[in-house]
Amino acid sequence: MSASSRLRLRLFPRAETAVRKGHPWIYADSIKEQNREGEAGELAVIYDKRDRFMAIGLHEPESPIRVRVVHLGAPVTIDADWWRGRLQDAARRREGILAAGGTTGLRLVNGDSEGFPGLIIDRYADTLVVKLYTSAWLPRWREMESLIREVFAPRFLVLRLSRNLQATASEHWGLEEGYVGETGEELVVFEENGIRFESAVVRGQKTGFFLDQRENRARVEHLAAGRKVLNVFSFSGGFSLYAARGGATEVTDLDISAHALASAQANFELNQADSKVPRARHQRVQADAFEWLKGCRGKFDLIVVDPPSLAKREREREGAIQAYETLNRRAIGLLAPGGVLVAASCSAHVSADEFHLLLDRVVAASGGSCRELWRSGHAVDHPATFSEAHYLKARCLERVGGF
Ligand code: SAH
Repeated sequence: MSASSRLRLRLFPRAETAVRKGHPWIYADSIKEQNREGEAGELAVIYDKRDRFMAIGLHEPESPIRVRVVHLGAPVTIDADWWRGRLQDAARRREGILAAGGTTGLRLVNGDSEGFPGLIIDRYADTLVVKLYTSAWLPRWREMESLIREVFAPRFLVLRLSRNLQATASEHWGLEEGYVGETGEELVVFEENGIRFESAVVRGQKTGFFLDQRENRARVEHLAAGRKVLNVFSFSGGFSLYAARGGATEVTDLDISAHALASAQANFELNQADSKVPRARHQRVQADAFEWLKGCRGKFDLIVVDPPSLAKREREREGAIQAYETLNRRAIGLLAPGGVLVAASCSAHVSADEFHLLLDRVVAASGGSCRELWRSGHAVDHPATFSEAHYLKARCLERVGGF
């Protein structure tokens, strides 16, 4: 990195206003002036049109999001002490979750919304999984690794890299996915609200488990007593375990992946000592959810529909809205009278408003009526401070009328 001059930017007016309001993404075409080419991971200082200091961001030369803001406001020195402070802030935000007890699996740092653009840290018991989504962290990895170890004191640490970073990480920085330092287990067992789960920390999707649904799962537990439950897109059975502990008579996991279903079974086995979980009959169906829901003739008292992101890009948004409608229309058609639907979406490109509107259309088209029991967004360990970071929304509807 050039020590001779700081990387300095000025932005076009709209981008300047957006940054001032707290939006952390600066696209390449929003940059009006730049004093020199910057390198990956370099700090870029953003000045406003009157040449006053405005913000500091991480520079990423090959990304359309060229700079991601990490600090806005008065001038600061961003050094190891500063990063340590941000990690400590993140740790403080989670104190309530940990103090409640029974939870050793949670998100510790949630990327851009906590000043760590494209960096996620998930904790599974004594293992931390750090996942990098932006190349800006590659040159900073050694520094971050030592700060993360210092602040969170994990026994094991796993590095995960988004697919687009893997080649550069390996060729230029000698970084590969996997345990860093002492090698731990492939499957790490942790607790969420007292339920035991395994997470495939090195090979699993994301960091091995979907920690963002913890609160919705707890809500499902409270709705499950005496009910026959269908968990569509079950993955490793997260919602199902809670339903079983909540007194469901029967729980069916539906997923296209044999691997996910095997993990769901393993998770049920991990909780055999619980007084309630073993009482629920656990079934697994490996199928495409769209097809299976269409052909199903049975009825369920509680159905969870939590698909993977159906719109990974903006241009997939319309198709995703259609797909959510189809899925939830089919699911609602399988509800017994008095049955409950829990519908979730993790597509950032489909807004919460759009999602709730499509669910309204689903209810209207069903010919019956539904009562809303709750709506939810992000939990405290998944803070979202700007619109693109708000990806998760869920709604619970109880079927009250005839269909
Ligand atoms: N609800 C889960 C997370 C879902 S992740 C939880 O609480 O942890 C999405 C899951 O959908 C994955 O397990 C994936 O295998 C599954 N999946 C993707 N496409 C599918 C399809 N067409 N039919 C059924 N399952 C599918």
